[in-house]
Amino acid sequence: MMQTPLLLTQMMDRAEKYFPKKKVISRTESGVQSFTYKEIVERTRRLASALHQLGVQKGDKIGTLAWNHHRHLEAYFAVPCSGAVLHTINFRLSPEHIIYIINHAEDRFLLVDADLVPLLEKIKDKLRNVKGYIIMTDQEKVETSLSPVYFYEDLLTDGDPTYSFIEDLDENTPAGLCYTSATTGNPKGVIYSHRGIFLHSMALGLADTVGMSEKDIAMAVVPMFHVNAWGMPFASMWFGTTQVLPGPYFTPKLLAELIQEYKVTLTAGVPTIWLGLLKEIEENPYDLSSLRGVLCGGSAAPRSMIEAFEQKYNIPFLHAYGMTETSPMALISVSNSSQESLSMEERMDIKAKQGMLVPGLDMKIVGKDGEVKWDGKEMGELALRGPWIASEYYNDDRTGDAFRDGWLYTGDVVTIDEQGYIKIVDRTKDLIKSGGEWISSVDLENSLMAHEAVFEAAVVAIPHEQWQERPIACVVLKDGYQDSVCKETLMEFLRPQFAKWWLPDDILFMKEIPKTSVGKFLKRALRDQVKNHLNKV
Ligand code: ADP
Repeated sequence: MMQTPLLLTQMMDRAEKYFPKKKVISRTESGVQSFTYKEIVERTRRLASALHQLGVQKGDKIGTLAWNHHRHLEAYFAVPCSGAVLHTINFRLSPEHIIYIINHAEDRFLLVDADLVPLLEKIKDKLRNVKGYIIMTDQEKVETSLSPVYFYEDLLTDGDPTYSFIEDLDENTPAGLCYTSATTGNPKGVIYSHRGIFLHSMALGLADTVGMSEKDIAMAVVPMFHVNAWGMPFASMWFGTTQVLPGPYFTPKLLAELIQEYKVTLTAGVPTIWLGLLKEIEENPYDLSSLRGVLCGGSAAPRSMIEAFEQKYNIPFLHAYGMTETSPMALISVSNSSQESLSMEERMDIKAKQGMLVPGLDMKIVGKDGEVKWDGKEMGELALRGPWIASEYYNDDRTGDAFRDGWLYTGDVVTIDEQGYIKIVDRTKDLIKSGGEWISSVDLENSLMAHEAVFEAAVVAIPHEQWQERPIACVVLKDGYQDSVCKETLMEFLRPQFAKWWLPDDILFMKEIPKTSVGKFLKRALRDQVKNHLNKV
């Protein structure tokens, strides 16, 4: 067979040739705008030529601090298709971490949204390699102390609409760079190659995964700074999928309106986004019947939420699992033909799992005595390998913590059932070790969130003299339940579902649960809050 390189340029070529009239709907600071793929590709060429003029060379890192919108999409292609590396920066990280990753990546230019300029102004003196800032905005001018500063639209006006992308790239050339929000220490960088992104995009198109296609109208709510918005912008461009990019400071109401207005068929985000949307659609009527899939990952989707989407609103739910290191799609829970005769309850049990390994990847689950049995009970750590799994952390001596013998050790403890459906029991560091046994914080959280009064629940371990660790639950109640629901109500609800020693020692009611920059429960901070609270009482 021919050894043709797998490059992102092919995705743009296809969009340009086959889908010039298909749309990218982009919400920015000034409202919703619509572009055709022909316009987007032309603007991408202009941007690439402008970067070339600014002296950007092969291998240079170009950082972005930006929301999901058309300019960010253009950078997604202009940068890697010129041989440079697109470094998407999570602007919700602490300033110290943002400084660390910009310096560690040695970013030469930063593309930044106007509203995020103040954030960069505060740290600009600490950035060692940045040669210039490019402001992405609809406004004519933005006052700033950043220097030298360029305006994105000015660069495009002067750019070359016929600019040719580099054709002789090796498929293993780095295309993207993203840092994981490490729970301790500095973030760790993961390089995505053209080949990795190409094959991951192809996997997104498989009928038994997400089945993305030209017919879809896709809205990635997951930020474009978080694992490439799970690869959706790449796959969308390639397949000619209409894209809706929700832009800055969106609310559940806005998301519901966008889905309704643009007849979005497929959307993707973390569970907190979908909990918010659910609350919105429970309170106000929308027509969301266009949705054929809500893709949810990043942390465990509560079963009660999946049930609400599927049974109450008839919206199919796709529960998936991945990490920054895995591009991210690694597991996905879609039903197969063997489930046709199952009851709704049984099917929901399966949907709530993280699912089967995506074709193209390889896995093993390592327990105390080697690989675990496929019995849905024995627990072990999930290890993965494959063409879109990273092989190291970028310039980082912590590589050996996770990458060993050709495998990525995910740090996630899982079980696998007879059918091969994997369930994430916990992160190794969040498992509660009580009296020599393990308690899954995720299972307790899911059960609590199934109670009608509970909006969110997170369970953490606190040290215990006799049992080593014990679970404490933290609960946010829905509005209107504060007077009628107490600790005992929820304990009674949990009792029939769990062995006695699994039950939390206490249930604390809170106004909100601390979250990470990407909307996951921040268990470290929560543990500190709980400990402080317990010391006081
Ligand atoms: P971080 O949270 O460290 O910034 P990632 O976003 O890469 O990094 O998160 C990856 C982790 O998120 C996984 O290792 C796993 O613990 C968790 N995760 C991802 N998807 C799911 C899911 N569907 N269910 C449970 N946990 C998940």
